Amino acid sequence: MSTAIYPGSFDPVTLGHYDIIERSSRIFDRVIVGVLRNSAKSPLFSEEERVNMIRHVARNLPNVEVKAFDGLLVEFAREEKASVIVRGLRAVTDFEYELQMAQMNRVIAPEIDTLFLTTNLKYAYLSSSMAKEVAMYGGKLSAFLDPEIASLVRAKFAPEK
Ligand code: ADP
Repeated sequence: MSTAIYPGSFDPVTLGHYDIIERSSRIFDRVIVGVLRNSAKSPLFSEEERVNMIRHVARNLPNVEVKAFDGLLVEFAREEKASVIVRGLRAVTDFEYELQMAQMNRVIAPEIDTLFLTTNLKYAYLSSSMAKEVAMYGGKLSAFLDPEIASLVRAKFAPEK
């Protein structure tokens, strides 16, 4: 059985992430979306919220599981018996960092490969931070986020009552 890990911060999960999750679920028998727990980025959403949001968008993909992790990604992959790490590539700006990380992971865990899926062109510009910025200024989120996720993001930026 082939298992892949798709790791990230997913703060929050976007339609671009979903596109990668859905495509991975057609390539692998089992896909585990790994939510990075102690992201240095001080996330807007808690680990639990991020996990639940991905579970919501992936609810119709039976071979996709969502788990939080911390520590080394390759250790998490080993625990889950995954042989592949999936990452999404949007533009050349992603490339240098992604290449470095893939090479480092390969030194630590030669049995695990990194597979890059190029973004759906529709979402090439899209990142969680862009979506949050649009939300902060009250913009329309339907092109970036699942409707349910969009309302959760809007609620985070709504003025306190
Ligand atoms: P990280 O902090 O690990 O970069 P992100 O949640 O920002 O976590 O992204 C997780 C993965 O999804 C990364 O491989 C990233 O390149 C990819 N990704 C992010 N946005 C998109 C998108 N719009 N299309 C395709 N892949 C994307």
